[in-house]
Amino acid sequence: MINLVLFGPPGSGKGTQANLLAGKYNLIHLSTGEILRGEIAKKSALGLKAKQLMDQGFLVPDGIVIGMISAKLDEYPEANGFIFDGFPRTTSQAEALDGLLTKKNTSISTMLALQVEDRELIRRLLARGKDSGRADDQNEEIITNRIEQYNKKTAPVQNYYSKQNKLGEIEGSGSIEDIALKLNQVVDTL
Ligand code: AMP
Repeated sequence: MINLVLFGPPGSGKGTQANLLAGKYNLIHLSTGEILRGEIAKKSALGLKAKQLMDQGFLVPDGIVIGMISAKLDEYPEANGFIFDGFPRTTSQAEALDGLLTKKNTSISTMLALQVEDRELIRRLLARGKDSGRADDQNEEIITNRIEQYNKKTAPVQNYYSKQNKLGEIEGSGSIEDIALKLNQVVDTL
């Protein structure tokens, strides 16, 4: 099984690249952001709770996203592997993910961490906001808060995987195709 964590700040291209990798290597793409937006669209209790935090650029509680990922892993017992996009976003989530995968006799193969400068992230997110319809892409204050949350709570997750010798850093500026090639080169070595 190949299990990848596609990591990076908001606007680093995780969703786009995770889609391409999932297609190329026949992996199940799990995006916690997408699952949460699905809950918001359904107007479920969980969705309504998450929406207030997401619209302001704050993280939703660990227990909620860990529960969602646990349910998804159970949904695909025959999967060739998974690509986690936007998860784990805290060290507690990373620890919980290891626990869930161990129970299924598997583990994370590698973390692919996209590196993109803050100014480029803000530019990309504001551009995406014009047609994404996402409340959290619409204004610079919320985008800046998302980047701050990333630096404070999410960036340390890289150390967690680095200690396990599973951190692969990839320059994330450039064309979608060039970045995809660099990611493929790493995955091909696994
Ligand atoms: P994304 O689509 O990955 O940019 O996520 C959009 C928003 O959903 C984030 O800003 C958070 O509010 C929430 N979210 C997504 N994934 C997580 C996660 N793993 N932990 C906590 N909050 C999350």
